Amino acid sequence: MTIDADEIASDASAALSSGMEDHLAAMRHSAAHMMAAAVLELFPDAKLGVGPAIRDGFYYDYDLPRPLTPADLEQIEAKMRDQQAADLSFEHSKDLPRAEAIALLEERGQPFKIEIVNDLPESEGPTVSFYRHGSFEDLCRGGHVASTKDLGAFKLLNTAGAYWRGDETRPMLQRIYGTAWDTQEELDRHLWRLEEAKKRDHRKLGRELDLFTFHPESPAAPFLHPRGMAIWRALEDWSREVRREGGFSEVRTPSLVRKELWETSGHWANYQDNMFVLDDYDHVSGLKPMNCPEEILIYRTRARSYRDLPMRFSDYSVLFRKERTGVLAGMFRVRQLTQDDSHVFCREDQVDDELRLALSLVRKQYAPFGFEPRAKMATRPEKRIGSDEFWERAEQQLRVILDEDGMAYELDEGGGAFYGPKIDIFIEDALGREWQMATIQADYQLPQRFDLEYRATDGGFERPVVVHYAIYGSFERFIGIVTEEYAGAFPLWLAPVQVIVVPIADRHLEYAESVRAALAEAGLRAEVDARSERMQAKLREAQEQKVPVMVVVGDRDAEAGAVSPRLRTGESSQGVPLAEFVADMVARNAARELWPAAGSVSEG
Ligand SMILES: [Zn+2]
Ligand SMILES: [Zn+2]
Repeated sequence: MTIDADEIASDASAALSSGMEDHLAAMRHSAAHMMAAAVLELFPDAKLGVGPAIRDGFYYDYDLPRPLTPADLEQIEAKMRDQQAADLSFEHSKDLPRAEAIALLEERGQPFKIEIVNDLPESEGPTVSFYRHGSFEDLCRGGHVASTKDLGAFKLLNTAGAYWRGDETRPMLQRIYGTAWDTQEELDRHLWRLEEAKKRDHRKLGRELDLFTFHPESPAAPFLHPRGMAIWRALEDWSREVRREGGFSEVRTPSLVRKELWETSGHWANYQDNMFVLDDYDHVSGLKPMNCPEEILIYRTRARSYRDLPMRFSDYSVLFRKERTGVLAGMFRVRQLTQDDSHVFCREDQVDDELRLALSLVRKQYAPFGFEPRAKMATRPEKRIGSDEFWERAEQQLRVILDEDGMAYELDEGGGAFYGPKIDIFIEDALGREWQMATIQADYQLPQRFDLEYRATDGGFERPVVVHYAIYGSFERFIGIVTEEYAGAFPLWLAPVQVIVVPIADRHLEYAESVRAALAEAGLRAEVDARSERMQAKLREAQEQKVPVMVVVGDRDAEAGAVSPRLRTGESSQGVPLAEFVADMVARNAARELWPAAGSVSEG
């Protein structure tokens, strides 16, 4: 049994779409009840944890006398199918005063359920409810389908260890995951997606393609190999180009920052649990989780006037966030990350334009990847600073901009940052998974906390607004996403090795080297495979490494000053003049074309 990483990965992706239809949620949660009933038939002493619906499925946690086997899952699934065929209705069987409920659960030997009842806040009322189907009754708030026959197409997937209440000091339970859909077709599609996702797993591809690795010596932080770093640089160049066109200037700010700054910014009170705090001689410092407070320090180094605004800073400094280790989420959840961070200091009457600019830069930066952004507007959370008027105004502003822009969006009630509402940008990948990407925030709080000002047209002082956003989010996570999106078969502009030159025989080595030099001089990443392997073996390996373009050179090519390129996708041509080939590669690279096609995973 292993700690399951998939769930954590999808968690980290914040892909958990809140858009799950109610009836799917009811069906999946009902499936969890049916699974618990089946498990109790097999293991009458099983102690039940919780069994919620999740994105794409459901789970239930159990304390069992022995580890579950694949054969157990088959048996449990068969028993669920029996219940489905039996057409048992889900009934609200009783409401009990808490003490009676606890007595009943004690009788049934269900300590975790008792803990749930004990921990319910007073506001939940004096009684708790129970729901029943067939002979199985469970403590539950409700939300089921009418009958067991309403469970559509389902399958149990796997087991994983899960600490009770996610607390590593509490018992580790066995969690069974299942998936349930309206139709067999949807189920099949989902199972295909899971299979495909496994093949595309960026941790696996990262190793196979020599891009990056993880080491226990620095948990939850990637080691970028030369080929991974080539991808990073290509992403960074593109981000810088987009920022430059957006009128940004780049800054760089320190990692280790004294506590006093975090106190002023509000991070110390609201974000300290996520910070690495260090003893810095007679001071306390924190490794920065965000760049904003330091950019504010830069802003404050001079008297600013309305003429200076907007001031747009981009910052690619390293950030640190205190995530739990032992989490196998690869690039999706790291403790040290780099964002393509942007902060705009502007006048209040410039905020709308800055938000418009932000949305347009998001579209521009995503375009070469083939990502179509959608938005979620996150409103005021419970834990927040600032008055209700602040929030009202800021939320209204975002709504207007989104409406004008025409980007599809939905609301995420209570999902805002503690200092302001935000627009979260989402994309859907090739497997239909939803990823949270950019976040755009108009912030009235930090300028106030830091008492920022600028000289206005009338000679008085006004407070600027800060607009924050990162478009990739973190480079680490974005590399994980695109690695899976393309199944490691990166388009030319991102590919670590863009062109590999393969001499047919040793006597072609010299010419092969001149081809490589011509490509390198034109700014492309090219290599010669000079090993004394057979040409076919070299091509096979280049194909496995998903190199976009392979160039075979033999006698005729060398004589004519030509090349015979072959694409990863199988297309090939003969005797292309070298200069023409280089110009073609340069043009495709500069245009950041989505070329050649990624192809299927199985080709590797
Ligand atoms: Zn229930
Ligand atoms: Zn910021």
